[in-house]
Amino acid sequence: MINFFEESEVETEHLPLISEEELSDEQVLVEMDKIKAELSDRVVVLGHHYQQDDVIRYADITGDSLALAKEAVKIDKPYVVFCGVHFMAETTDILTQGKTVILPDLRAGCSMADMAKRDDIDKSWEWMKSCTSDKIIPITYINCAATLKAFVGDNDGSICTSSNAEKVITWALNRGQKLLFFPDQHLGRNTCYKLGIGLDEMVVYNPNMRNGGLTPEQVAKAKVILWYGYCSVHQGFNKQQIIDLKTREPDRTVIVHPECSFDVVQAADDAGSTAYIINQIEKAPAGSKFAVGTEINLVGRLQAKHTDKSIISLSPYQCLCTTMYRVRPRWLLASFRAIKENKPINVIKVSDELKRSSLVALERMLAIV
Ligand code: SF4
Repeated sequence: MINFFEESEVETEHLPLISEEELSDEQVLVEMDKIKAELSDRVVVLGHHYQQDDVIRYADITGDSLALAKEAVKIDKPYVVFCGVHFMAETTDILTQGKTVILPDLRAGCSMADMAKRDDIDKSWEWMKSCTSDKIIPITYINCAATLKAFVGDNDGSICTSSNAEKVITWALNRGQKLLFFPDQHLGRNTCYKLGIGLDEMVVYNPNMRNGGLTPEQVAKAKVILWYGYCSVHQGFNKQQIIDLKTREPDRTVIVHPECSFDVVQAADDAGSTAYIINQIEKAPAGSKFAVGTEINLVGRLQAKHTDKSIISLSPYQCLCTTMYRVRPRWLLASFRAIKENKPINVIKVSDELKRSSLVALERMLAIV
């Protein structure tokens, strides 16, 4: 059993290989169909929108982080197989008391989540508090390790997702004078700006620099302190792509995720969470044209589903979340075989202490939205 007590680095203790010599890709899918049906009374599969099609086909519930967090609470089967990345599986373990939560490939991490370490957060927090008498409310994006969720739980803060960031930030600014937002600077900046906070009221704390590269005066003056973290997938989109696209096709709507940088969100026609993007495309009339700035597996599924609309990726390059992509049908099958033998593998277990504090923060978020 794996314990992610300290940080979110991915452990690779047990990778149960089902080699291609043992089973071809097609044979894996055939056995998966059979075993999934056999274990349907014991296992729920949760699938994040960024998973590849051959994994999503086995998901009982698909969604973004917020939707899956809400669904996790309702699960009444003993095993939850989470097809996503490890912070999501941790969140599920925190929310589902007494369930066994499995991540099919333990290497499926999140580079953004790994940009905020608990030690660095603790160090920055003490220093920031010494710079100001203002009350600072810490907010973490759900894309982080359980140690950080516990930190905000213990320090009067909350978790947010890209779907509810506006509400959570508004809540936080009603409780304190300042906000510390981690690990994604872009979601923090884009959301705060949308709420009327000027760029000159925000500073960036870079954990790789002494005191984050800030002076005590800058911290004292700032309303929002953003952590220097980002998503390598969404950072792949740039403003020039929008300018080029609009020159070629001025009538194509550019819709992007708020993990994209500020200039991309400002240049786009629309921006919102994964659920928002899906919804906007779904309700658009036939013949609508979109260029989407988010992960490529989701864009591909939107294309396949809405054949009456023209949907392309904003980027000419493959914007693939390579860690999400690590979850393959053969790892899913290995997880199912192990459950069938009552010897679950790749179990994600958060310590009781971290669970208690994280749960405070998660329940605070669920009460706000
Ligand atoms: S898309 Fe970005 S934020 Fe989401 S899991 Fe992948 S690296 Fe992390």
